[in-house]
Amino acid sequence: MREHKFGMIKEKAYAKINLGLDVLRRRADGYHEVEMIMQTVDICDDLTFEKSDAQGVHLTIEGADLPADGDNLICRAAALILEAGTVTEGVRITLQKRIPIAAGMAGGSADAAATLRGLNRLFGLGYSMQELRELGVRLGADIPYCIEGGTMLSEGIGEILTPLSSPPACHLVVVKPDINVSTAFVYGNLKADSLPFHPDIDGMAEALSQGSLKGITDRMGNVLETVTEKAYPIITDIKERMRNLGAENALMSGSGPTVFGICKEKETAERIAADIRKRDPSGAVFVTAFHGGAQERL
Ligand code: ATP
Repeated sequence: MREHKFGMIKEKAYAKINLGLDVLRRRADGYHEVEMIMQTVDICDDLTFEKSDAQGVHLTIEGADLPADGDNLICRAAALILEAGTVTEGVRITLQKRIPIAAGMAGGSADAAATLRGLNRLFGLGYSMQELRELGVRLGADIPYCIEGGTMLSEGIGEILTPLSSPPACHLVVVKPDINVSTAFVYGNLKADSLPFHPDIDGMAEALSQGSLKGITDRMGNVLETVTEKAYPIITDIKERMRNLGAENALMSGSGPTVFGICKEKETAERIAADIRKRDPSGAVFVTAFHGGAQERL
């Protein structure tokens, strides 16, 4: 079929980590009510969007073995916004995948959010950020946050978002061991009514507003570790190594298995990364930094 070249739109989909993650309760409908401090990090997927004469959504993926059909969150997000905007034209999408998959870094949600932003621009649909969030939550609880990213308190099932002050500059070492953890397994095995601890999310928000790195690292906590660490002790090992080698603190992100360590000096993050790569070359290891989300994209 003949193809016309229209303008190409590019979007970056940034991964997130959780500086704090608390679960308040399990609702009757099965969703969990959460309090999470979300933070984008400088690890991203690249997406491109182009109008096409061919009907429907055509996705090409580089860098990962993922379904490129209707199961992919990108295709689901595209179908949702095109239908809402009564767009009948086709679209070609490419994904360059770099964010580790099933890692607790919201890679799929970030791609879906980038798709909503990209197609909103490509077809001039005029949806506000709030409207994109409302579309996104129909596909996944982390998608509303991923629309803008940055530093946010996420409550409810993830749809109530409050922007927070960015953390002070520091360096991160991010390690995804070579195991895949299903988010459904972790939430399914969480004893939400009898958690042994609750991280101080309000104190963390306060520490962010004061720009206190120590206030932040002292309060890092994730109740999902109670499930994932028990099933995968490698997570505990990585956290301990990070702390022993000079990280201010280390924590599992989301439902895991990714672990991040916060370091004051880049050399410390690089030393930890080198040590972990040597011990377990099968995992993915990044030395990176926090990213400001939409504010930094402007
Ligand atoms: P979260 O932190 O939101 O739980 P995650 O990092 O644990 O996310 P994802 O990388 O988003 O997990 O992937 C979860 C599952 O979603 C994968 O097993 C994959 O098959 C499916 N998936 C669908 N679309 C995508 C996509 N574009 N990128 C990654 N995974 C996708």
